[in-house]
Amino acid sequence: MSEQRRPVKPSHAADLPVERRRPRVLFGRALLRRCPHCGAKGIFTNWMALQERCPRCGLQFEREEGYFLGAYAINLIVAEFLGFGIVVLLLIRGDLSVLQMQILAVVLAVGLPFLFFPYSRTLWMAIDLIVHPPRGDRRPNAR
Ligand SMILES: [Zn+2]
Repeated sequence: MSEQRRPVKPSHAADLPVERRRPRVLFGRALLRRCPHCGAKGIFTNWMALQERCPRCGLQFEREEGYFLGAYAINLIVAEFLGFGIVVLLLIRGDLSVLQMQILAVVLAVGLPFLFFPYSRTLWMAIDLIVHPPRGDRRPNAR
């Protein structure tokens, strides 16, 4: 009985840049408020302010003027749908008065976009890295 090896078929996935093969890793890092490219902590100077570049990998976060417009859209969609879902859930199951519901709705409409703001930015960067991965040996967006 001869042992024959079947030829290994070249994988298309191996030709893809690393970032295209692992969107879950990029989204996981984004949800932890880390650099989606390298996973470094401390990319925010405070809750709202993002550093210009990643302290570890040098990724320039705002690639061009208006870059974070997509992050604002993500923030608006996620926060408002989440707030709407909470209010609808409380309408169905809750025992709050109309005034209490109105106050809660306003608090959620203002608070959720604020809470989700940094995550919307890192998620947007992760999406951008999946769509436009930095090329091979260059430092990401190094000038
Ligand atoms: Zn980084």
